[in-house]
Amino acid sequence: MSLSIDLSDDLSNGNLKVLDDLTSSVKQIQDDVLKEILTLNADIEYLHRFLHGSSDKDLFTTNVPVVTYEDLKPYIDRLANGEPSDILSALPICGFFLSSGTSGAKQQMLPQNDKYLENMRFVYDLRSLIISKHFEGVEQGKGMLFLFTRQDSTTSSSCLPATTVTTSFFKSKYFRDRPSYWYNSYTSPDEVIWCPDNKQSLYCHFLCGLVQRDDVVRLGAIFASVMIRAITFLETFWKELCSNIRSGQLSEWITDLSCRASVSIILGGPNPELADFIEHKCSQKSWEGILRQLWPNAKFIEGVFTGQIAQYIPTLDFYSNKLPLVTTSYGSSETFFGTSLNPLSKPQDVAYTFIPNIAYFEFSPVDKDNNNELVQLADVKLGYYYSPVVTTYSGLYRYKVDDILEVTGFHNNAPQFKFAQRKNVVLSIQTEATTEVNLLKAVTNAKLVLESSDFMLLDFTSYAEISSAPGHYVLYWELKTKNNGTSKLDDKVLVECCYVVEESLNAFYRKERTKDGSFGDQKKKKKHGSIGALEIRVVQNGTFDELMDFFVSRGGSITQYKTPVCIKSIEALAVLKHILLTAGRRR
Ligand code: AMP
Repeated sequence: MSLSIDLSDDLSNGNLKVLDDLTSSVKQIQDDVLKEILTLNADIEYLHRFLHGSSDKDLFTTNVPVVTYEDLKPYIDRLANGEPSDILSALPICGFFLSSGTSGAKQQMLPQNDKYLENMRFVYDLRSLIISKHFEGVEQGKGMLFLFTRQDSTTSSSCLPATTVTTSFFKSKYFRDRPSYWYNSYTSPDEVIWCPDNKQSLYCHFLCGLVQRDDVVRLGAIFASVMIRAITFLETFWKELCSNIRSGQLSEWITDLSCRASVSIILGGPNPELADFIEHKCSQKSWEGILRQLWPNAKFIEGVFTGQIAQYIPTLDFYSNKLPLVTTSYGSSETFFGTSLNPLSKPQDVAYTFIPNIAYFEFSPVDKDNNNELVQLADVKLGYYYSPVVTTYSGLYRYKVDDILEVTGFHNNAPQFKFAQRKNVVLSIQTEATTEVNLLKAVTNAKLVLESSDFMLLDFTSYAEISSAPGHYVLYWELKTKNNGTSKLDDKVLVECCYVVEESLNAFYRKERTKDGSFGDQKKKKKHGSIGALEIRVVQNGTFDELMDFFVSRGGSITQYKTPVCIKSIEALAVLKHILLTAGRRR
């Protein structure tokens, strides 16, 4: 089977034959992919050290080491300094992808070439085919999707562009020349996506989406967290949007010329009836279900809802009155991995089927009983946990990605993986190691307490405060009332939340915190441990928007933005300075 696959036949007759072919011959396709990558790159400097010009799979398996970003950084730096691509890749490196770098680690620069974008287009094609099969009539409507790009920067010596995957894709021919059966049907013209000023872009996305509200069959963003940001933006700007719709005139501050020109055409003339309608909906006291009210024909919200993004689901359910959440794909700046074949799965059940012609995938077992030998895609076992190790067409060879995945099933021979967690430990003060998953679970438990008192947790992050002894965990929370009202949060509720978070953290935390790990017993409680009482600081509304702006200004992109579960830099911490309320348990 050819590794470059043309999906147009399948797409035009609504078939899923390609998917069947791909998922039935996983081992063969993976062997072919590896052969192709090794043959192409046999003579590049990096691989030559290990393979001496050979493209033999066994030699690759025994000689090529598993590496991390730090191992490859000297090579990547040389590329950025203007040395030729063939240090790492026979296919020309045409730039770098900046990974979101918000998970505590420094932003990383990964070499890129057209093969990545070609793969991304392939996954989008496949996805649109799968979604149309599950939602009748979806191709006839339009999508209001919050997609953004950022201004490219270039590396100083090589003059190669350094940008995010999504920016690179949305500006590439793979997106621009998309076929009509695909996402031709956005409410926003491409100029809105390409506008480098994200505020203007978001405003225009809404304007176009509101004017064409009856045509909108799907809402979404790449990561669902962006939907929440968009809704809070709408809360601030709906009056101005209505005034533009009423007069047929776009606000003066939309200064990006191509954005202005294309959106003005969509805005058309004055439309006071529509303005009245939106004004009526948006001035209701509660915004529960507002998305369904403004876009009554929307059948679902699409995006990523797994991993740390799952925390936004209750808030989205509130604003959308539980529109179905359709999970899209799993990918990173290193490579695309796979897509969900069942768009109707609940986010907690979503599994990603890896697409075997995209890259060569191996897996490093996470379970302790396993030895450290890598397992091939076709050989992973049901119920086991692994981290992916990827060999790509863009200069990564046995590169370990810091995610943990669980094998939960197979589609034909292709394994399906549930996203379990990012591997990093986010908080640690003593010997305890609190992972992203520990923290997310603990906050989810505390959210139940919060919600019983009419408040929603809009977003959160954390910080290990060690400037005073004993060090302690601090959670920064941005809250919102469910009825847009002025309900006051009772301190006792916050203290109860602190209690629930601490009770939900793992045994190591509880042990360090109280010496014997018990909070319940009053007498034992007096035995303070080496970690101080967890503190929740409620921040002013808009703070997490500012935090996003901060990371975006440092080279991130809104489209790929994920609020960091933990803050590691003092500069980012400074953004969280407007604290309205603080609470902690007595120690
Ligand atoms: P970036 O390279 O900045 O785009 O970040 C990629 C990371 O985002 C991945 O390694 C995952 O940790 C996370 N991610 C991407 N897609 C998903 C998904 N579908 N579910 C959960 N996490 C995801």
